[in-house]
Amino acid sequence: MSYDYDLFVIGAGSGGLAASKRAASYGAKVAIAERDIVGGTCVIRGCVPKKLMVYASKFAHYYEDAVGYGWSEVQPSFDWKKLVTSVDNEVKRLSKLHISFLEKAGVELIQGDATLLDPHTIEVDGRKVTADKILIAVGGEAIKPDIPGAEYAITSREIFLLPEQPKRFAAIGAGYIAVEFSCIMNGLGSEVTQFIRGDRFLRGFDEDIRSGVQDAMTKHGINIITNTYVSKIEKVSDGLEVTYLDKAKNTEEKITVDAVLIAIGRAPHLAHLGLENTNVEIVQCDDPDLPNLHGYTVNCAIKVDEYSRTTEPNIFAVGDCTNRINLTPVAINEGRAFADTEFGNNPRIFSHETVASAVFSQPEAATVGLNESEAREKYGDAVKIYRAQFRPMYHSFTGKDEKVMVKLVVDSNTDKVLGAHIVGENAAEIIQGVAIAVKMGATKKDFDATVGIHPSTAEEFVTLR
Ligand code: FAD
Ligand code: NDP
Repeated sequence: MSYDYDLFVIGAGSGGLAASKRAASYGAKVAIAERDIVGGTCVIRGCVPKKLMVYASKFAHYYEDAVGYGWSEVQPSFDWKKLVTSVDNEVKRLSKLHISFLEKAGVELIQGDATLLDPHTIEVDGRKVTADKILIAVGGEAIKPDIPGAEYAITSREIFLLPEQPKRFAAIGAGYIAVEFSCIMNGLGSEVTQFIRGDRFLRGFDEDIRSGVQDAMTKHGINIITNTYVSKIEKVSDGLEVTYLDKAKNTEEKITVDAVLIAIGRAPHLAHLGLENTNVEIVQCDDPDLPNLHGYTVNCAIKVDEYSRTTEPNIFAVGDCTNRINLTPVAINEGRAFADTEFGNNPRIFSHETVASAVFSQPEAATVGLNESEAREKYGDAVKIYRAQFRPMYHSFTGKDEKVMVKLVVDSNTDKVLGAHIVGENAAEIIQGVAIAVKMGATKKDFDATVGIHPSTAEEFVTLR
């Protein structure tokens, strides 16, 4: 049977772009469909514009800090429109660059919404094409809770294009996005309130990261309302009124803000994809209380094996729509492993173990390997913790009560470093190098035998005793 393409990829985001170019490099005839701007979440409305906004927001701290170093005090002003226009232009430039990379790789780009008609036929805006293999890399979309007025709230999709800076900003959620944007908006001078359901945000991270970031954000003036539940959002004459339950006092409280960001997780883009016309199975969460998007909840995902094979033999899936680890480098690696296996005569599995990640909060947090409680669960009393918390040298003259936290989790039976965690300036840059050592199975002795770079924060990882 002959097909129009050897591979048809649905979704030109991190995973789809990487897989399509790698497959084409092996001589496969490849097409990729994208219904939106080429680049996907990371490039268009995720990692890239977010990090540019993080940079923008940090200048406020630098202006303040400079005074202790002898610089005269200045009253800086900030132009929101200028920032969002620059960010938007950069995103468009990168999207064009990705289109040129596809052209160079010989991948055909088809703009439009792709739907599966059967396991080998895809329809893109009325055009039918066939393919031997299909890769689903459709990513996901933010979900909203089922509360009155949720439609007035924005998600991370809209935040990069707001015409005005919300001077009073609220974030609902306890994950990466709510934490990062609370810090961004705080740095840009907005009054920020973050609502979280529990005592601490960033569930799943080491407790020292959770408390280190949360305490620092509170010191920066972010009002983190814990153990709460937002019950409604109403439009009022001077903004949006958020009603929330103070569980401790059992009272209903209200605040008025200019914008509410909802960031309580994401669900895969599976609606209208036509999966029902194939044997692709979905791991669906039956919890009726979980908020959903077009019927799909945060926990649902396309079912795949370690080779990213779905339950339909010629259909594969990578990236956020498989809900393994929802990070760009993971989607890229899954996509490349798929292409190497299916088109490069090099069957290989991408390991989801020991994947480093960072929260671009202020202060930043970064992590690799097991956190303390995961390690204790697995290794019990053999776990030894090495930890330091100190004021970084940079803050000697700023007068700020800022702390760095550096931590190693070690298995004392083997001396192997199981996890490394850091809160502080440049945490992401620092952990990337440490991640190589942890991934290679370095021991605490190996860390100790490494000579530090002085004076630096990173040297703490090799001087912890
Ligand atoms: P995506 O990049 O989402 O791409 C999927 C593409 O498929 C989209 O372009 C979509 O339009 C398209 N599509 C969907 N359905 C169809 C269809 N039927 N037909 C045609 N096209 C379709 N990760 C990090 O590693 N670091 C970060 O700092 C970071 N920051 C983030 C910040 C935010 C605000 C968000 C939301 C995410 C962030 N992430 C970050 C996560 C990262 O963006 C995702 O993990 C990554 O983009 C997943 O790649 P993907 O290929 O699976 O999906
Ligand atoms: P996350 O899954 O990271 O966190 C959402 C959190 O919100 C949950 O863990 C939960 O915390 C809380 N929550 C869930 N439901 C509700 C509710 N109904 N009301 C209030 N709080 C609720 O989601 P995000 O949207 O922040 O981010 C999505 C993903 O994008 C991330 O998981 C990450 O993979 C990726 N990302 C990565 C970044 C990076 O690498 N720097 C940056 C941004 C995103 P709890 O149960 O503790 O209340």
